[in-house]
Amino acid sequence: MSTFATENTQATPGSQAPAVSVRGLNKAYGDLEVLRGIDLTVHPGEVVCLIGPSGSGKSTLLRCLNLLEEPQSGDITVSGFDVTDPDIDVDAMRRNVGMVFQQFNLFPHLTVLENCTVSQVKVLKRSNAEAEQTAMTNLERVGLVEKAQQRPGQLSGGQQQRVAIARALSMNPDLMLFDEPTSALDPETVGDVLAIMRTLANEGMTMLVVTHEMSFARDVADRVVFMDGGVVVEEGPAREVIGSPKHERTRSFLSRVL
Ligand code: ADP
Ligand code: MG
Repeated sequence: MSTFATENTQATPGSQAPAVSVRGLNKAYGDLEVLRGIDLTVHPGEVVCLIGPSGSGKSTLLRCLNLLEEPQSGDITVSGFDVTDPDIDVDAMRRNVGMVFQQFNLFPHLTVLENCTVSQVKVLKRSNAEAEQTAMTNLERVGLVEKAQQRPGQLSGGQQQRVAIARALSMNPDLMLFDEPTSALDPETVGDVLAIMRTLANEGMTMLVVTHEMSFARDVADRVVFMDGGVVVEEGPAREVIGSPKHERTRSFLSRVL
């Protein structure tokens, strides 16, 4: 149970516990301190974009949220799970958290449809019929119903990333984490992926998105968090952080990417 639920309930009356709450998170690889006292909250239904230079610790932060990395110290709750509790049911937690990576990580030997059903059957114990129905609904959401029987290698990068999104959605997650989902794509396919993410956001999905797409962050995010050197330098409403950043480090980063 998050010790910050009370505080956040006061901040936004009527809301539930945060979807993500990170307090005082530290992560090091040997002597290299990658995350140094990170605080981060994502409320249900909120879209938060995480921006910052390469090497600032964005991916490591995302990976700590679903225990792909183990932090040295700090408190993390995700979807009501205390992630730093040694007795956490990791599988149950991950079931609630969809993750989309820069590299799509689809199974190359399975069809698009099978990519979207395999975890539903194995992890959620859905029947094949139910899993296929859910998968087709989500392939329709990303506009790829007609590719259901093809293999990932037959699709463009943008189409593969849309399959990865459909696969994640097929698990009915409470929260979606995106780590630079468009960075590996050909420029002409980036827009299709961003459009799907924009629709998801409008439908109320809770999303934490690492991205270098500043126009997406400005238009879609409720809040933008700027990280540099393993700390949160600045955060606030998207238009404020991107449009009139307060810190010199934020200004300097934005002048390089905008
Ligand atoms: P970002 O996603 O913001 O580019 P990362 O979280 O990938 O940053 O990396 C932050 C820092 O941690 C970098 O200096 C990177 O080299 C280092 N790092 C990331 N993963 C590892 C690892 N498994 N072992 C050692 N160092 C790592
Ligand atoms: Mg990264």
